[in-house]
Amino acid sequence: LSSSSGPRVCIVGGGPAGFYTAQQLLKVGDAAVDVYERLPVPFGLVRFGVAPDHPEVKNVINTFTQTAQHERCSFHGNVNVGKDVTIDELRQAYHAVVLSYGAEGNRSMGISGEDLPGVFSAKDFVGWYNGLPSNKELRPDLSCETAVILGQGNVALDVARILLAPVEMLKETDITQNALEALAGSKVRRVLIVGRRGPLQIACTIKELREMVNLPNTRADMLPADFEGIAEALKDLPRPRKRLTELMMKAAKEGGDDKAEKCWGFRFFRSPVEVIAGADGKRATGIRLALNKLEGSGESARAEVTGQLEDVDCGLIISSIGYKSIPIDPAVPFDPRRAIVPNEMGRVQDTAGLYCSGWVKRGPTGVIATTMNDSFDTARVLIQDMEAGKLDLSVNKPGAQAITALLQTRGVRTVLFSHWEKINAEEEKRGKFLGKPREKLLDVDEMLKILGR
Ligand code: FAD
Repeated sequence: LSSSSGPRVCIVGGGPAGFYTAQQLLKVGDAAVDVYERLPVPFGLVRFGVAPDHPEVKNVINTFTQTAQHERCSFHGNVNVGKDVTIDELRQAYHAVVLSYGAEGNRSMGISGEDLPGVFSAKDFVGWYNGLPSNKELRPDLSCETAVILGQGNVALDVARILLAPVEMLKETDITQNALEALAGSKVRRVLIVGRRGPLQIACTIKELREMVNLPNTRADMLPADFEGIAEALKDLPRPRKRLTELMMKAAKEGGDDKAEKCWGFRFFRSPVEVIAGADGKRATGIRLALNKLEGSGESARAEVTGQLEDVDCGLIISSIGYKSIPIDPAVPFDPRRAIVPNEMGRVQDTAGLYCSGWVKRGPTGVIATTMNDSFDTARVLIQDMEAGKLDLSVNKPGAQAITALLQTRGVRTVLFSHWEKINAEEEKRGKFLGKPREKLLDVDEMLKILGR
């Protein structure tokens, strides 16, 4: 534990927002920063969201590790803030508290049948193949030929790619072994990626689209009608969207390898209306879509229903319409409509000394770099407030010492960063045996057991 008598700040959440905020705060010469994380393992969605075949994206872990190992920083995993310790208790022990706990909830489609077996949220499906302990029992049935993904953002494309990628490609990644085995036996041959609006409004980026286009043994299968008028609109588009649209049109036109055994395609201008159950009513066998037309144009175009419906047979439905933040403590203001902690530039509304960064601050969009900038902004605002005398630094705060003692009385077994390094070494050892960078431990109790706790 740090013995600094300078400002003590605690951060709730050990994902990118938490670590980037800590990194910036540590630039204040005598500040001590403690990160509290619900899971025994750090890094949030870098570990549990980013696709296993994007190892280069996970290099940020090296920077986060440096931060965690900083002499004035400490990591306390396996602490569920809001349950094991309250925000008020943290506020008493620290000069400032930063909420960086991400977006662990899921936006529902609000249609009948969405709870049927065979329907999953992308969040759970991604959690399953990435080894999130709460999703280890998911066991999606992959015995159907067609899967439908609702939503057309990067997460939707990650899921489509994992469903269609050759298993030889995946087996060298850190995808969990049970997901790999399920995918090896998968019968899914066709993945349709459905969006409410048109090709000009699609939310994915070109890197993810290019990966779909380049997937071995897979061709694109699109509907020419969805692209009517798009060629004419190209010249007025901003460059990134123009390049994305050109690539999409090329894929739609050329399709790819005729001998490919698998295919994928966007289905535009369609909204889910109902999950169709099989004759026994026990599982999803299809999805009913409403056909839309666009009102307006460009980014702000709205989808309006035409009254026409279309049924698609499929045994697997994955809704990828967004994550959302949830309140973790009634003492913290929460905006249920926007599903964020209401704030001004990272200062939580009406609560001096409380700040937020990352997805819980601005909503669940944006890549790690966006989260980094946003977290640096929050840290800067916090430092400004310190310098302006808005946080009472004249009072000594006990920081982690008091919270650790409190957690001990409550039987919470905290996991320090040195403990995580043991888990990490064990995962790398198991991975080496399988020819993978790591084999993730899927069970919190097993992680604690390895630590002898
Ligand atoms: P998170 O990463 O979710 O971190 C929040 C942390 O808080 C978690 O560790 C969580 O366990 C913890 N927590 C939650 N509740 C509590 C609590 N009560 N007490 C203590 N701790 C708590 N970006 C890219 O740049 N490239 C990509 O390839 C990419 N792929 C992605 C794929 C998916 C499926 C998703 C969902 C996102 C992807 N992103 C990608 C975006 C990137 O992951 C986010 O920008 C970033 O992770 C947001 O950081 P965060 O810290 O706000 O949230």
